[in-house]
Amino acid sequence: MIIAIDGPSGAGKSTLGKMLAKKLNLLYLDTGAMYRAVALAVTRAGVPFRDIDRIADIAENSEIDLVGEPDAMKVMLDGQDVSVDIRTLDAAQSASVVSTISEVRRIMVEHQRIIGNSAPNGCVLEGRDIGSVVFPHADIKFFLTAKPEARARRRYTEDQAKGRISTYEQTLAEINERDERDVSREDSPLTIADDAVVIDTSELDLHEVFEQMLAKISEKRASAA
Ligand code: C5P
Repeated sequence: MIIAIDGPSGAGKSTLGKMLAKKLNLLYLDTGAMYRAVALAVTRAGVPFRDIDRIADIAENSEIDLVGEPDAMKVMLDGQDVSVDIRTLDAAQSASVVSTISEVRRIMVEHQRIIGNSAPNGCVLEGRDIGSVVFPHADIKFFLTAKPEARARRRYTEDQAKGRISTYEQTLAEINERDERDVSREDSPLTIADDAVVIDTSELDLHEVFEQMLAKISEKRASAA
Protein backbone atom coordinates (compact mmCIF):
# COMPACT_ATOMS: atom_id res chain seq x y z
CA MET A 1 0.00 0.00 0.00
CA ILE A 2 1.30 3.41 -0.95
CA ILE A 3 -0.11 6.42 0.91
CA ALA A 4 0.82 9.84 -0.48
CA ILE A 5 0.62 12.92 1.73
CA ASP A 6 1.29 16.28 0.12
CA GLY A 7 0.77 19.84 1.21
CA PRO A 8 2.52 23.03 2.26
CA SER A 9 4.81 23.22 5.27
CA GLY A 10 3.23 23.18 8.70
CA ALA A 11 0.00 21.46 7.59
CA GLY A 12 0.71 18.42 9.79
CA LYS A 13 2.09 16.04 7.13
CA SER A 14 5.01 14.70 9.18
CA THR A 15 3.16 14.13 12.42
CA LEU A 16 0.21 12.49 10.70
CA GLY A 17 2.40 10.54 8.29
CA LYS A 18 4.31 9.04 11.21
CA MET A 19 1.08 8.24 13.07
CA LEU A 20 -0.35 6.48 10.01
CA ALA A 21 2.85 4.55 9.35
CA LYS A 22 2.92 3.30 12.93
CA LYS A 23 -0.76 2.40 13.01
CA LEU A 24 -0.67 0.56 9.68
CA ASN A 25 2.82 -0.90 10.05
CA LEU A 26 4.13 0.83 6.94
CA LEU A 27 7.47 2.44 6.21
CA TYR A 28 7.53 6.21 6.62
CA LEU A 29 9.44 8.35 4.15
CA ASP A 30 9.95 12.07 4.75
CA THR A 31 10.97 13.20 1.27
CA GLY A 32 11.57 16.78 2.45
CA ALA A 33 14.39 15.45 4.63
CA MET A 34 16.08 14.16 1.48
CA TYR A 35 15.97 17.59 -0.21
CA ARG A 36 17.20 19.14 3.03
CA ALA A 37 20.14 16.68 3.10
CA VAL A 38 21.09 17.60 -0.48
CA ALA A 39 20.91 21.29 0.44
CA LEU A 40 23.15 20.69 3.45
CA ALA A 41 25.69 18.81 1.32
CA VAL A 42 25.69 21.71 -1.18
CA THR A 43 26.18 24.31 1.55
CA ARG A 44 28.96 22.28 3.19
CA ALA A 45 30.73 21.93 -0.14
CA GLY A 46 30.56 25.71 -0.57
CA VAL A 47 28.83 25.37 -3.93
CA PRO A 48 26.75 28.39 -4.97
CA PHE A 49 23.07 27.73 -5.69
CA ARG A 50 23.45 28.93 -9.28
CA ASP A 51 25.91 26.12 -10.05
CA ILE A 52 23.30 23.63 -11.20
CA ASP A 53 25.75 21.08 -12.61
CA ARG A 54 27.75 20.78 -9.41
CA ILE A 55 24.57 20.60 -7.34
CA ALA A 56 23.23 17.79 -9.53
CA ASP A 57 26.55 16.04 -9.11
CA ILE A 58 26.30 16.34 -5.33
CA ALA A 59 22.73 14.98 -5.40
CA GLU A 60 23.86 12.04 -7.54
CA ASN A 61 26.88 11.18 -5.43
CA SER A 62 25.62 11.80 -1.90
CA GLU A 63 24.42 8.83 0.06
CA ILE A 64 21.20 9.82 1.79
CA ASP A 65 19.51 7.31 4.08
CA LEU A 66 16.60 7.56 6.46
CA VAL A 67 16.96 4.99 9.18
CA GLY A 68 15.00 3.93 12.25
CA GLU A 69 11.42 4.06 13.43
CA PRO A 70 9.21 6.99 12.34
CA ASP A 71 9.41 8.69 15.75
CA ALA A 72 13.17 8.43 16.03
CA MET A 73 14.14 8.61 12.40
CA LYS A 74 17.73 9.56 11.66
CA VAL A 75 18.75 11.24 8.45
CA MET A 76 22.19 10.09 7.34
CA LEU A 77 24.31 11.96 4.82
CA ASP A 78 27.35 10.00 3.65
CA GLY A 79 27.29 8.00 6.85
CA GLN A 80 26.96 11.00 9.15
CA ASP A 81 23.86 11.73 11.24
CA VAL A 82 22.56 15.13 10.05
CA SER A 83 19.08 14.87 11.61
CA VAL A 84 19.56 18.04 13.65
CA ASP A 85 21.56 20.02 11.07
CA ILE A 86 18.88 19.70 8.38
CA ARG A 87 16.17 21.23 10.59
CA THR A 88 17.51 24.79 10.64
CA LEU A 89 15.70 27.65 8.92
CA ASP A 90 18.62 28.00 6.53
CA ALA A 91 18.44 24.32 5.57
CA ALA A 92 14.69 24.67 4.90
CA GLN A 93 15.19 27.68 2.65
CA SER A 94 18.15 26.06 0.87
CA ALA A 95 16.10 22.88 0.35
CA SER A 96 13.38 24.87 -1.34
CA VAL A 97 16.02 26.36 -3.66
CA VAL A 98 17.83 23.12 -4.62
CA SER A 99 14.46 21.38 -5.07
CA THR A 100 13.70 23.69 -8.01
CA ILE A 101 16.50 21.99 -9.99
CA SER A 102 15.04 19.31 -12.30
CA GLU A 103 18.09 17.06 -12.17
CA VAL A 104 17.99 17.04 -8.37
CA ARG A 105 14.29 16.15 -8.46
CA ARG A 106 14.88 13.35 -10.97
CA ILE A 107 17.50 11.77 -8.71
CA MET A 108 15.40 12.14 -5.55
CA VAL A 109 12.23 10.80 -7.20
CA GLU A 110 14.08 7.74 -8.46
CA HIS A 111 15.42 7.11 -4.96
CA GLN A 112 11.97 7.60 -3.41
CA ARG A 113 10.32 5.16 -5.82
CA ILE A 114 12.88 2.47 -5.05
CA ILE A 115 12.38 2.93 -1.29
CA GLY A 116 8.57 2.99 -1.57
CA ASN A 117 8.38 -0.02 -3.86
CA SER A 118 10.71 -2.14 -1.76
CA ALA A 119 8.95 -1.56 1.57
CA PRO A 120 7.54 -4.98 2.58
CA ASN A 121 4.06 -3.78 3.65
CA GLY A 122 4.02 -0.47 1.81
CA CYS A 123 4.97 3.07 2.58
CA VAL A 124 3.63 6.44 3.70
CA LEU A 125 5.46 9.14 1.77
CA GLU A 126 5.09 12.81 2.55
CA GLY A 127 6.24 15.76 0.49
CA ARG A 128 5.05 18.11 -2.23
CA ASP A 129 4.88 15.92 -5.35
CA ILE A 130 4.14 12.44 -4.06
CA GLY A 131 0.62 12.07 -5.47
CA SER A 132 1.35 14.07 -8.61
CA VAL A 133 4.79 12.75 -9.64
CA VAL A 134 6.46 10.17 -7.38
CA PHE A 135 3.51 7.80 -7.02
CA PRO A 136 0.71 9.02 -9.32
CA HIS A 137 -1.00 5.64 -8.81
CA ALA A 138 -0.77 5.70 -5.02
CA ASP A 139 -3.54 3.74 -3.30
CA ILE A 140 -4.65 6.86 -1.53
CA LYS A 141 -3.59 10.49 -1.76
CA PHE A 142 -4.06 13.12 0.89
CA PHE A 143 -3.51 16.82 0.50
CA LEU A 144 -3.23 18.45 3.90
CA THR A 145 -3.50 22.17 4.07
CA ALA A 146 -4.21 24.95 6.57
CA LYS A 147 -4.31 28.72 6.61
CA PRO A 148 -0.79 30.22 6.57
CA GLU A 149 -1.36 31.77 10.02
CA ALA A 150 -2.32 28.40 11.52
CA ARG A 151 0.71 26.72 9.93
CA ALA A 152 3.05 29.47 11.08
CA ARG A 153 1.62 29.29 14.60
CA ARG A 154 2.35 25.54 14.75
CA ARG A 155 5.86 25.93 13.36
CA TYR A 156 6.55 28.78 15.74
CA THR A 157 5.40 26.70 18.75
CA GLU A 158 7.61 23.78 17.62
CA ASP A 159 10.57 26.11 17.13
CA GLN A 160 10.12 27.62 20.58
CA ALA A 161 10.02 24.15 22.13
CA LYS A 162 13.33 23.41 20.42
CA GLY A 163 14.81 26.61 21.83
CA ARG A 164 15.10 28.36 18.48
CA ILE A 165 15.11 32.12 18.49
CA SER A 166 12.57 33.52 16.06
CA THR A 167 9.38 35.52 16.11
CA TYR A 168 5.96 34.48 14.89
CA GLU A 169 6.22 37.12 12.14
CA GLN A 170 9.56 35.71 10.93
CA THR A 171 8.11 32.20 10.88
CA LEU A 172 5.08 33.37 8.88
CA ALA A 173 7.30 35.22 6.40
CA GLU A 174 9.56 32.17 6.02
CA ILE A 175 6.60 29.85 5.41
CA ASN A 176 5.08 32.21 2.86
CA GLU A 177 8.37 32.54 1.00
CA ARG A 178 8.92 28.79 0.88
CA ASP A 179 5.31 28.07 -0.18
CA GLU A 180 5.56 30.64 -2.94
CA ARG A 181 8.70 28.97 -4.29
CA ASP A 182 7.13 25.51 -4.01
CA VAL A 183 3.92 26.41 -5.88
CA SER A 184 5.56 28.52 -8.57
CA ARG A 185 8.51 26.35 -9.62
CA GLU A 186 8.36 24.89 -13.10
CA ASP A 187 9.21 21.29 -12.27
CA SER A 188 6.70 19.45 -10.07
CA PRO A 189 5.15 22.43 -8.31
CA LEU A 190 3.05 21.84 -5.22
CA THR A 191 -0.40 21.00 -6.62
CA ILE A 192 -3.46 19.11 -5.50
CA ALA A 193 -3.73 15.83 -7.44
CA ASP A 194 -7.20 15.39 -9.01
CA ASP A 195 -7.93 12.33 -6.92
CA ALA A 196 -6.52 13.62 -3.63
CA VAL A 197 -8.56 13.80 -0.43
CA VAL A 198 -8.14 17.40 0.71
CA ILE A 199 -8.24 18.11 4.44
CA ASP A 200 -7.99 21.61 5.85
CA THR A 201 -6.43 21.15 9.27
CA SER A 202 -6.72 24.81 10.39
CA GLU A 203 -9.56 24.21 12.82
CA LEU A 204 -9.04 20.52 13.54
CA ASP A 205 -6.93 18.86 16.17
CA LEU A 206 -4.47 16.16 15.24
CA HIS A 207 -6.64 13.27 16.34
CA GLU A 208 -9.64 14.46 14.35
CA VAL A 209 -7.49 14.61 11.21
CA PHE A 210 -5.97 11.22 11.99
CA GLU A 211 -9.44 9.65 12.36
CA GLN A 212 -10.58 11.21 9.06
CA MET A 213 -7.52 9.83 7.30
CA LEU A 214 -7.99 6.34 8.76
CA ALA A 215 -11.65 6.38 7.73
CA LYS A 216 -10.71 7.30 4.15
CA ILE A 217 -8.09 4.55 4.03
CA SER A 218 -10.63 1.96 5.27
CA GLU A 219 -13.12 3.17 2.64
CA LYS A 220 -10.51 2.80 -0.09
CA ARG A 221 -9.48 -0.63 1.10
CA ALA A 222 -13.11 -1.79 1.23
CA SER A 223 -13.82 -0.52 -2.29
CA ALA A 224 -10.64 -2.11 -3.65
CA ALA A 225 -11.41 -5.52 -2.04
O1 C5P B 1 8.86 19.05 3.98
P1 C5P B 1 10.00 19.97 4.26
O2 C5P B 1 9.57 21.29 4.79
O3 C5P B 1 11.05 19.35 5.12
O4 C5P B 1 10.66 20.21 2.82
C1 C5P B 1 11.70 21.12 2.62
C2 C5P B 1 11.62 21.65 1.20
O5 C5P B 1 11.93 20.58 0.29
C3 C5P B 1 10.25 22.14 0.76
O6 C5P B 1 10.04 23.51 1.05
C4 C5P B 1 10.26 21.89 -0.73
O7 C5P B 1 10.84 22.96 -1.42
C5 C5P B 1 11.17 20.70 -0.90
N1 C5P B 1 10.43 19.47 -1.17
C6 C5P B 1 10.07 19.21 -2.47
N2 C5P B 1 9.45 18.04 -2.79
C7 C5P B 1 9.18 17.14 -1.84
C8 C5P B 1 9.51 17.40 -0.49
C9 C5P B 1 10.12 18.60 -0.18
O8 C5P B 1 10.30 20.01 -3.36
N3 C5P B 1 8.61 15.98 -2.18
